[in-house]
Amino acid sequence: MAATQKILQYKQPESTYDVIIVGGGLHGLSAAYYLAKYHQVKRIAVLERQYIGSGGSGRNTEMVRANKRAHETLPFYKESLEMWDGLSAELEWNLLVQKKGLIALAHSDGEVDAMRMQGDAQRRAGIKIDMLSPQEIKRMVPALDISDRTALPVVGAQFHPEGGTVHHDAALWGYAKAACRLGVDICEGVEAVGFNVEAGRATGVKTNVGEISADKIHIAVGGYSSQIARMLGVKFPVVTIPMQVMTTELMAPFLDYYVASPRLHWYTQQTLKGDLILGGQLDPWQSWKSYNTWEECSERVASILEYFPDLAHARVVRSWSGLCDCTGDSAPVMGPSGIEGLSLDVAWGYYGFKSTPAAGKYSAEYIVKGKVPEKIKHFGLDRFFNRSRVREIII
Ligand SMILES: Cc1cc2nc3c(=O)[nH]c(=O)nc-3n(C[C@H](O)[C@H](O)[C@H](O)COP(=O)(O)OP(=O)(O)OC[C@H]3O[C@@H](n4cnc5c(N)ncnc54)[C@H](O)[C@@H]3O)c2cc1C
Repeated sequence: MAATQKILQYKQPESTYDVIIVGGGLHGLSAAYYLAKYHQVKRIAVLERQYIGSGGSGRNTEMVRANKRAHETLPFYKESLEMWDGLSAELEWNLLVQKKGLIALAHSDGEVDAMRMQGDAQRRAGIKIDMLSPQEIKRMVPALDISDRTALPVVGAQFHPEGGTVHHDAALWGYAKAACRLGVDICEGVEAVGFNVEAGRATGVKTNVGEISADKIHIAVGGYSSQIARMLGVKFPVVTIPMQVMTTELMAPFLDYYVASPRLHWYTQQTLKGDLILGGQLDPWQSWKSYNTWEECSERVASILEYFPDLAHARVVRSWSGLCDCTGDSAPVMGPSGIEGLSLDVAWGYYGFKSTPAAGKYSAEYIVKGKVPEKIKHFGLDRFFNRSRVREIII
């Protein structure tokens, strides 16, 4: 009889560790994995106050891409996108990586020009980008209405062939399982409620189950970074805004690509299972709410239906929301916190899923070597205080 293999082993924390990671989302789990696998750090704990994946990592719309604009961020996103390709084999877990291609629609000549300019920057960074005519879009997405019937007709699109999707739950289990195999303690139901800082150096975490000491502490708490900043007394320029998502009933396959309208704030993709994910803009105000609103859902459905009129019969069967922790320059905060021994990997807004592999890899490198790696040197917290913010676009 085949031996049963426990997928994950959840632990109560020990009293001391080499590295404590606060936050059991993808960023915390991937950092734990890279620390154990490539830096041979032995005693690592991931503290998660709920269950792993209860934050944005289990709520996102699974889009992976590298079509940002800023020269400071493009090499990072390109590497992260490439890293997904080899991850299923590395983690020994099928992450259902589908580089299906991403089509971003333009509804005016101005948008086409802006996409061409972004495309130049993206191609210079080695990212594959093409422009599509309405006829080419129609051939690729027959269900899309490109006629003049719509209020803002489709006049072109940017095509990012290497963009696509990865199954977010599979990614979570893949990293968590691999980290467990390497001896990482994943401690669910353990909440960081404060920190011990002595002479400017972090020495431990206060939790709901007692104090735990550590040589290094790494923060990867998604939408809760400002709460941690308050505990630490660190000034932190982040606002937390929910994003709502819906999904339809299952349908026969009809949509091969990820299709987005940055101008109209919606995007959609058909999953392998057959349902259609309907994503869109952030809520208009800051909060930590986790419910959906009729206004946002109905507006989103109306906007997508205008371009996919054949979907009028489809039923929305589920909706959820999650938190996006956003900075003013649409780039994350990684590396030093200003407190020795305590590092950050937060403020990933709505682009943290795609960033998981590279964020985990470079967080681990920074934690071990104490030197900020080249690829994340523009993501430091200090950029908000010395006028060196990233020139990113919000798409
Ligand atoms: C609706 C939605 C759609 C999105 N779509 C995409 C997309 O298509 N592509 C993309 O790239 N990104 C997307 N994102 C963004 C992406 O989901 C996040 O950036 C990413 O999941 C962040 O991962 P994380 O591990 O940093 O945080 P999380 O997954 O949020 O994990 C943080 C964890 O920390 C825990 N925690 C918090 N405070 C404490 C504490 N004090 N002690 C212990 N544990 C604590 C939380 O419970 C949580 O589990 C989307 C986000 C949302 C909300």
